[in-house]
Amino acid sequence: MKTDVLIIGGGIVGLSTAHQLLKLNNNITVTILEKENGVAKHQTGNNSGVIHSGIYYKPGSLKAQNCLRGYDMLIDFCKAENIKYELCGKVVVAIKPEEIAGLEALYQRGIQNGLSGLRFLNKDEIKQYEPNCTGIKGVFVPQTGIVDYKQIAVKLAENINNNPNGTIVLNSKINAIVGNEHGAVVHTDDQRYEANLVINCAGLYCDKVAAMAGEKLNMKIIPFRGEYYSIKPEKAHLVKNLIYPVPDPNFPFLGVHFTRRISGEIEAGPNAVFAFQREGYKKTDFKWSEFWESISFAGFRKVASKYWKTGLGEYHRSYFKPAFVKALQQLVPAIQEDDLVPAGAGVRAQACDKDGGLIDDFYIQESTSFIHVLNAPSPAATSSLSIGLEVAERAMKKLN
Ligand SMILES: Cc1cc2nc3c(=O)[nH]c(=O)nc-3n(C[C@H](O)[C@H](O)[C@H](O)COP(=O)(O)OP(=O)(O)OC[C@H]3O[C@@H](n4cnc5c(N)ncnc54)[C@H](O)[C@@H]3O)c2cc1C
Repeated sequence: MKTDVLIIGGGIVGLSTAHQLLKLNNNITVTILEKENGVAKHQTGNNSGVIHSGIYYKPGSLKAQNCLRGYDMLIDFCKAENIKYELCGKVVVAIKPEEIAGLEALYQRGIQNGLSGLRFLNKDEIKQYEPNCTGIKGVFVPQTGIVDYKQIAVKLAENINNNPNGTIVLNSKINAIVGNEHGAVVHTDDQRYEANLVINCAGLYCDKVAAMAGEKLNMKIIPFRGEYYSIKPEKAHLVKNLIYPVPDPNFPFLGVHFTRRISGEIEAGPNAVFAFQREGYKKTDFKWSEFWESISFAGFRKVASKYWKTGLGEYHRSYFKPAFVKALQQLVPAIQEDDLVPAGAGVRAQACDKDGGLIDDFYIQESTSFIHVLNAPSPAATSSLSIGLEVAERAMKKLN
């Protein structure tokens, strides 16, 4: 089969890229190949459902630019497609005096990123937003919202399939890619696709797909599982909206927090534990080849030696519920172990470089016939339509 552009991966980044390409040019054909029997089966369908405001990201970074632009694009898309969302705002709270400097730095970052309406909160003001939350100082972020990203992905897929130039092929796992002077040939078990340009949006497997295409990489994907608990309905009143701790600036994850889902359920989590399998959603999931690949990567070993203490804390909270509950009680003391039931997990694709750095920013690498999205962790769901536009514009330049 022939197509102008072939996209690998039917997560929100691949779908948004196809959506933007088809909007930019109605003369090109775009095909998405997805290995699962539906779209959004991995990161996109197992995330926290938060529409991030952009407060966390370094001004000028790809994360800041795409989160801010993507935020507006996402809300416009939800309005146009009648997808339920809510801009409920969130509170970030310092629980110890030594966290106040970090909270103030976060506020300043929000201002630098152009957020309006941010507000410092004292102890009593925190309670006006979250009556059961104990903190010594807080920031209210009015822009933060909630949505179901799976619904967005399904709508994008519907629109792509309804476009005469768009095709999504499910149950199609790429297992070989051969570049040539006109583009590339991509193989699945039973099909062969010829494309002028291939865009890799394979999430947890993006480095493997890039390696198949012959790219030299300075990074590897390290999977970090994030486990959730759900608060029993009779205790859901303990949390109104979203309550976050002050994040550790050395770590790309935000710390366990409370989130109201768009379905009304209150979730606690996710933590961030190194997973022994890329799509390892359960604690017992283990794939020797993938585990070995991670631990034999020099960059990962450097990460492990730098963050071993944080990592051990994450394992402790993962395997020992009272420790998880203790972390949550720092934000909402009334929460008890019996109030929480396990509620699944997601696995983050976090790129790690050879020098042991967890790559913080989004990262896209190009070669003649390929564009590889190699680091698209949170807030990539919020930013997806903007990342999609950025990749689609790069693709159009290459095709011309
Ligand atoms: C626990 C967790 C919480 C998060 N919370 C938030 C949040 O609240 N807000 C936010 O903005 N972001 C959040 N994120 C981040 C966000 O979900 C991801 O950044 C985003 O979904 C990435 O989308 P993607 O399309 O790159 O990856 P994915 O959704 O993982 O899609 C990649 C697709 O590629 C397919 N694929 C892989 N290999 C192949 C192959 N060989 N052949 C064919 N197909 C292949 C996979 O099956 C998959 O469907 C969270 C992530 C996690 C894990």
